[in-house]
Amino acid sequence: MTDLVIGSGPAGVSVAIALLNRGRQVLMIDGGEELEVSAQERRGRMAASEPEDWSAADIRAWQAPQLDTPPGQVRRFGSDFAMVPGTDTLVAPDQIGLRASHAAGGLSNLWGSAILPNRDADITDWPLSAQDLAPHYRAIAKFLPVSGREDALQTLFPAFPMQHRVPLTPSPQAGHILHRLEHHQSNLARLGASAGMARLAVDPGCRYCGQCLHGCPWGHIYSARQTLEDLRHHTAFRHRHGLAHGFEEQADHVTVRLDGGESLKADRVFVAAGVLETARLLLLSSADPAARLQLQDSQHFFLPSLHRWRAPRRPDQVPYHTLPQIFIELDDPDLSPHLVHSQIYTWNEFYAQDLIRSYGAKLPGSTPIWHMLARRLIVAQAFLHSNHSARIDLTLAPDGRLVSTVLPNDTTEQVMARATSRLAQVLKLAGLTPLSFARRPGDVGSSFHVGGSVPMAETPRTGQSDILGRPKGLARVHLVDASILPSIPATTITFSVMANAHRIGTLAP
Ligand SMILES: Cc1cc2nc3c(=O)[nH]c(=O)nc-3n(C[C@H](O)[C@H](O)[C@H](O)COP(=O)(O)OP(=O)(O)OC[C@H]3O[C@@H](n4cnc5c(N)ncnc54)[C@H](O)[C@@H]3O)c2cc1C
Ligand code: SF4
Repeated sequence: MTDLVIGSGPAGVSVAIALLNRGRQVLMIDGGEELEVSAQERRGRMAASEPEDWSAADIRAWQAPQLDTPPGQVRRFGSDFAMVPGTDTLVAPDQIGLRASHAAGGLSNLWGSAILPNRDADITDWPLSAQDLAPHYRAIAKFLPVSGREDALQTLFPAFPMQHRVPLTPSPQAGHILHRLEHHQSNLARLGASAGMARLAVDPGCRYCGQCLHGCPWGHIYSARQTLEDLRHHTAFRHRHGLAHGFEEQADHVTVRLDGGESLKADRVFVAAGVLETARLLLLSSADPAARLQLQDSQHFFLPSLHRWRAPRRPDQVPYHTLPQIFIELDDPDLSPHLVHSQIYTWNEFYAQDLIRSYGAKLPGSTPIWHMLARRLIVAQAFLHSNHSARIDLTLAPDGRLVSTVLPNDTTEQVMARATSRLAQVLKLAGLTPLSFARRPGDVGSSFHVGGSVPMAETPRTGQSDILGRPKGLARVHLVDASILPSIPATTITFSVMANAHRIGTLAP
């Protein structure tokens, strides 16, 4: 028999690599959704020519499906393959922004690729330290590209050194902001802030074509799909499609039921189905019809600002990328005992569209003004630790979908307000005018930095898991995605999910 890994997203491929490195046999299953052939062909045509040779019509056609995406959905490559429609998973999908994926590679087909390791002060409630995760961050970085450079952020995150990493070239606006902030180190320290270049899971071969929010034609933005392709060459690895619908543990094996009535038997099962689908699997497999789980969110908000200086060159003309450019970390106990993490985005083609949709109709003929303003717009996306964020209560509906109830956190608004005013002070140092009145909180769950429904504990109680991700009462079923994180630090989630999954794959009996 073999180890069965449910899910081929970042958590699934990370645990699989660790298991294979120990000589184990691995069968991986996933929902099997793939980019449609027509979309693959479109992508291939874009990748076959140089960005300089793309016509305006080529670019418009590539971007149109994304610019048209309905609220709550994230689309890349002109396709919805990587995000399950909310109504398939949730009874009332408009209550939360979180969605599941049934794709090979999971949500990493869509992600922003921002990565940071955890630091100890943000995981004091975990039964692990940043040092316990450090060797696993390094193991993950053997297949996950990590761009960035050694800078002021390094002292906050010693568990993952940045020497010998290749930075991406920042956009012209981001280069200017970084340069100005570097000259304000003492003022930044006074504000409890550190700033540096964004750490991104992007290959240094980036062509700076500016299509990051539409899907990278060359696949330079990491997707677990790429690691899945590499794993197929391993003789001890097998992969197939199949949606798991529940499991049952016996003394010497686990039986997993698939949609369609088929069953699979495995020595051990490693569940990496993403937090919503993992919760559904657990509730479907529970003997208690009243079972419930509670997800912890890392809530986020957007703070727009305008730059007062003249950009070194037009920000909307290539070369540039449109992923997060700069990280700003706020580390001040007056704000929170935990870091508040911010990602700075410079020009992208959604800015003008959003401005025109929001304000254009009220001022006929104003379109050129919004285009001009968009070229001066900089947006910070700031994340809070889960201790300052809402929770999402999950139960099972009779039809097998999830009933979600948002449990707001009394401290969220207060911490967001304080973080906004501090972040605004930092942005002013960079010559920006923050538009604090226009701060916009994201819907609960829409950060996709969500987990903690079966938190790991040294001595697990009912509803918790042990440090190998086994829910209390189970010996052969390991949860390895964000479901088992005891809390969600603000500083991005996926790198730590991958490191933790790799740790469990390395240590599981
Ligand atoms: C728009 C967007 C931007 C993001 N940006 C960032 C970012 O910048 N930084 C960051 O750290 N994180 C980011 N995230 C979050 C990141 O994508 C997730 O943390 C990560 O993908 C989770 O990995 P996972 O392997 O646990 O689950 P998923 O990626 O959800 O993968 C789940 C896997 O399980 C399979 N599966 C699901 N259900 C079943 C089932 N019942 N049976 C069998 N297989 C199943 C799926 O096919 C898939 O292979 C972002 C997410 C989104 C949507
Ligand atoms: S700019 Fe973005 S889309 Fe273009 S090559 Fe680089 S990562 Fe890919």
